[in-house]
Formats: sequence, C-alpha cells, structure tokens
Amino acid sequence: MQAIGRYFDGKTAQEIRVVLRIIEPDLCLYDEAKNLIGRWPLVDLRDENAPHRPNELNLSHSLESDERLVVTDPVFIESLKIVSPTLRKRRKGAAGWWKPVIAWTAAVVICVGLFFGYGLPVLAYGIASLVPYDTRSKIGEGVENIVIQRLAKKTKNKEADPVCEGAVAQNAIEGLVQEFVTAAEADILPVKVTVISSKVPNAFALPGGRMVITSALIDMAEEPNALAGVLAHEFGHLVDKHPMSLFVTNVGIAAFFSMALGDVSGGTVIAAIAQSASGAAYSRSYEDDADETAVNLMNRLDMDIAPVLPLLKKLGEKVPEAGLFSVFSSHPDMDSRIQAIKEAKTTGTLNAFSERAWAAIKIMCKGSV
Ligand SMILES: [Zn+2]
Repeated sequence: MQAIGRYFDGKTAQEIRVVLRIIEPDLCLYDEAKNLIGRWPLVDLRDENAPHRPNELNLSHSLESDERLVVTDPVFIESLKIVSPTLRKRRKGAAGWWKPVIAWTAAVVICVGLFFGYGLPVLAYGIASLVPYDTRSKIGEGVENIVIQRLAKKTKNKEADPVCEGAVAQNAIEGLVQEFVTAAEADILPVKVTVISSKVPNAFALPGGRMVITSALIDMAEEPNALAGVLAHEFGHLVDKHPMSLFVTNVGIAAFFSMALGDVSGGTVIAAIAQSASGAAYSRSYEDDADETAVNLMNRLDMDIAPVLPLLKKLGEKVPEAGLFSVFSSHPDMDSRIQAIKEAKTTGTLNAFSERAWAAIKIMCKGSV
C-alpha cells in the first residue's frame, strides 16, 4: 500500500514530494529517486491539525522535530488510522505547550508597551522616512483601495464606481494642493487627491502622498475656504509623514503579535493596515500639528481658513451617526481644536477656488451617486 505525500523538513518552506509506504512498524518515506529518506515509527505518529480534518493528516513523528508530512489520500489515511491507533491522540509531554506561547506573548506585550511609551513614535517616524518612494507609493495605493472599498459600501448605489470625476473640479483641487506644496517649502512627494462618493463626511491623508475626501464632506462645506481648510489639514498630516508613521507603528505591532500568536494568515497585519487606513489612531498632538500647518499654509497663501470652523463644528456634532469609521470621530477634542484655530491669527482675502471651479467641485459626485 503506497501513496504520495508532501514532506516539509521543518527548517525551510520547501515542499518535497515523497512516496509513502507502510512497512510495519514504520511509515517509510522515499524521494523521487526511490531512495529511503525517512522511517517514522507508526506508534509515534501524531496528526498536528487542530481541529482534525477528515481529508488531511498533518503528521509529526516526535516532539523534538518540526518535520511534517501532509497526507490527503483517503484510502491511505484510513490504513494509517488502523496501524497507528494513537494518530489522533495528543502527544505525551505536549500538555502545557501553551505556556511558552503565553510567556512569549507577555514578553512581547511588555516590550511593545515600553517601546510604544518611550520610543515607538520616534522610531516609526524614522522608519517612515527611510521607506523608498516606490514602496510608499505602493502602500498608499493599497491602503487607498481599502478606504475606497469600505466607504463605497456607504454609497446609495453600491454598483457604481465610487470615484468622482470632473476635469475642472479635479484640476482645481490639485492646483490648490500644488500651491500648498510650494508654500510649505517641504520635501514632499507629488500629492494625489481622490474624491469619492460616500454618505459619510470624511477626509484622509494616506501613505505615499495620497488624500481621499468624500462627497458628503464637500456637500457640508459651505464655502471654498472651508474645503480648502480640510485639505490643508490633511496636507499637514502628509508634511509630517503621519500616515506612514502610523502605518509603520500599526503594522509593526501587528507583526509582533502575528508572530507571537502564530497567526500565519497575517490577518492581524491586514487588520492593522485597515486600521491605519481609517486613521483611527491619530493622537491629539498629530491633530494639533496638522491644524497648525493648515493655518500657516492658508495664511501664507492669503486665504482665510476661518470658514473651516463651522464645518469642523458640524463634523464634531455628526460624530454619533457617523459611526466608527469616521476619521472625525477619532479626531479628539474638536471643540478645543476649534478654539486653538480661532486663537491662531487667521488672515486672508482670497478664495481657494474660483466660482466656476467651486461649482464644478460641488457637482463632481452627482453623476456617480
Ligand atoms: Zn487630522
């Protein structure tokens, strides 16, 4: 009786096709050239799948070895169960296997905690600065897709493409952002702004110089400078590399946990990426810094940022119904932020958008809703 199996040596991820034969008292493994490469005593075989699966065995032969053998041939599985009755019993000495896991997890939690309290934000900023443009750009694209997918669920027409288009509107928004780039005199990447159709008023700055704003936010903005103020704030996050720092922090912590908990699928990391996308972890100091940058930029461009204040107030009030995903629900202390912007001297005589551009921006999502 023989079957094909997949052998793993426990050191590399490489999979080796083996021929299996039951020659009591052993299970014998042969490579493709028919050389005997292993003899696993039948009494020592254990199925490591937890829970056990009807159509697959994931065999080990001792506690000390990480070698594995995957068997899927149903007839061979039945034969093995007969000659190796302890196959699906827990290995002796395996009790308490979780202790090192708990210890490791605790150690990681303590390290991350110390790190987070004392060094992670600084470290994250350093790493964020080192990530090459191409990589940042790719990360930004991935994160943006997650944001758009999540927000698209909140459009009236779920089938329609949520990205809003309109050359006049798009040019006006990108033109303003380009003015920010010039005025900031910062070493900043090209900035891409995507407007999407969504019932949730929101704005995000994402890694790789990306910004996303929603149609509901545009609807709520009563004046060009109100929208410009939000864009300037998000631009402030980009100047200070907040999105990339947040990404590094979240994904770094998730990677630690993922390793500690043996989360092979990487679900923890994906969740962390989504978390960075929602911007839910921006600290108050990040918000204050972005507000300060916004006020300075708008002043420099002779555009009064004050019209953003009623918009911020409305967004602050909308929090309960905006739901968990709203960036603004996590933008802390809206009232004190409004107060701080009021106290900063805001000046300016120009409108951020011409009448024609503003009209185009106001209707750019109407076609896609
Ligand atoms: Zn913000």
